[in-house]
Amino acid sequence: MSFQVFGIPVSRGVAIGRAVLVASSRLDVAHYFITESQIESEIKRALRARDEVALELETLKQDLPGDTPHELAALLDVHLMLLHDEALLGATKHWIVERHYNAEWALSAQLEVLARQFDEMEDDYLRERKADLEQVVERILSALAREQGKSPTDAASVVQRDFAGEDPLLLVAADIAPADMMQFKRSVFHGFITDIGGKTSHTAIVARSMDIPAVVGTREASRLIRQDDWIIIDGDAGTVIVNPSPIMLEEYRFRQRQSELERARLARLRHTPAVTLDGERVELHANIELPSDAAAAVEAGATGVGLFRSEFLFMNRGGELPGEDEQFLAYRAAVEAMRGMPVTIRTVDVGADKPLDRLSVSELRHEHVLNPAMGLRAIRWSLAEPSMFRQQLRAIYRASAFGKVRLLIPMVAHLNEVRQILESIKKVQQQLNDAGHAYGLVALGVMIEIPAAAVMLPLLLKHVDFVSIGTNDLIQYTLAIDRADEAVAHLYDPWHPAVLQLLAGSISQARSAGKSVSVCGEMAGDPAFTDLLLAMGLRSFSMHPSQIPSVKQRILRADAGRLSRAVTAVLQSEDPQREAEQAFAAQRSKQVLQ
Ligand code: PEP
Ligand code: MG
Repeated sequence: MSFQVFGIPVSRGVAIGRAVLVASSRLDVAHYFITESQIESEIKRALRARDEVALELETLKQDLPGDTPHELAALLDVHLMLLHDEALLGATKHWIVERHYNAEWALSAQLEVLARQFDEMEDDYLRERKADLEQVVERILSALAREQGKSPTDAASVVQRDFAGEDPLLLVAADIAPADMMQFKRSVFHGFITDIGGKTSHTAIVARSMDIPAVVGTREASRLIRQDDWIIIDGDAGTVIVNPSPIMLEEYRFRQRQSELERARLARLRHTPAVTLDGERVELHANIELPSDAAAAVEAGATGVGLFRSEFLFMNRGGELPGEDEQFLAYRAAVEAMRGMPVTIRTVDVGADKPLDRLSVSELRHEHVLNPAMGLRAIRWSLAEPSMFRQQLRAIYRASAFGKVRLLIPMVAHLNEVRQILESIKKVQQQLNDAGHAYGLVALGVMIEIPAAAVMLPLLLKHVDFVSIGTNDLIQYTLAIDRADEAVAHLYDPWHPAVLQLLAGSISQARSAGKSVSVCGEMAGDPAFTDLLLAMGLRSFSMHPSQIPSVKQRILRADAGRLSRAVTAVLQSEDPQREAEQAFAAQRSKQVLQ
């Protein structure tokens, strides 16, 4: 039966393929394709792991002390029965043979199928056996991991292998932590859907950086969609069509081809400088998460990196943070890849929906801190960990000997924070001098993400060289909307008059102070806001490399001087979006007439 699921569109385009349901807790299981010749040995691996678990359970049963309650032995029998049931290993073989999934992936795919069947059982006792099945699968996965000499939570094992399979695969999960999304950058999936999340949640941001269609905040896609269903992800509309009719499929295949043609057309603008019709030059910088993303930035025609989210180097390391040398090598790699263009490295911005260890947003909501977005995150955390902070500063400064580096501080709200940062920088420079390390001139910038920083900008500007406006958080904190919470996603409004006033005020104050200002939040990469930001006087945008071509196209067709005439009316309007759309359309048509 065909049906649709609605969510929040976060990454454009159309993807058509088969659903791969992955439980959030199983996202770190290796997902890769094996070759035809590996099928037999992969099945043997799965069977060996099963036999090992069978032995484990039999031994446990035999070793039970005489006074053990009878229920425990019965439970072990249930586990043994589940282990030997054809529905588990027999069907796992199917995924290996038909789909070329590796054993771990095949096993978790089958777990999803069976778990669904358990959920639908009427009988309470039988329904509760799902937990037993999960424990059995967990044991088999551990046996497989032991055989490979690594733990089952080795996220780095998600790799892409060549496979001549015809059907693209689309990931369906209740939730995906940002760090897990990073693993999927190198994975086999062509699109993804989650139940949880908002447009500027970090999971969505990483999806956009991968440039694959994605829909989040569907609330129940992972419950309604079944393993292997055919699905269409419409990343523009935020809809997911499950088991589409042939006519529907044809229509979406046509749209897919159209958007590929459009991408190819836009890619030709790569070497065209971003200059408006009235001669205003605009910097189009890239947002990157890892040094390896710098290549895509250069390829897309970025003129620098406006935001290197260094926190992704710190995530999922089991509490161990990257040392100074490791960080230095990463920053140097990005700097060298940008070939003399500026690289803006943001100091670690962990916390809120970017935890250091692998916790999904839904887990975070129930963990540790009541209000993580307002807690010890970003610069607050760095200042609370001075030696970690100085270590990062040293690594960033050392990288500046190899190219143009700018230092960006997230979540600044107090002048005192800026003073402490300046002191740390002085100390670090002294340490580098003493150790004989070379470093260059590093401009210091702060992010404007908290309304307080926007309101007191003239005071901050006296102490820093540049500012970068993080609209994702600025909107979150101005409107008191959790950016990762789909329940309030409809209230997350970049067109809100208060947001626009803070944005326009920050751009104009920075410009009047002669300091450079850019926007590196998601608004910068959305062509729907390009005219508005140009009109407000913004001349430096930072976004994911994949978004550069369409923003550049809008810039090439804009007359910044004309657009700016509409700003006052937009800021004073009760419906700024409508006012802006009408005013900017009118400016463009005058342009055409002249
Ligand atoms: C922002 O808040 O707009 C921003 C760019 O930072 P992040 O999305 O990483 O919080
Ligand atoms: Mg931010």
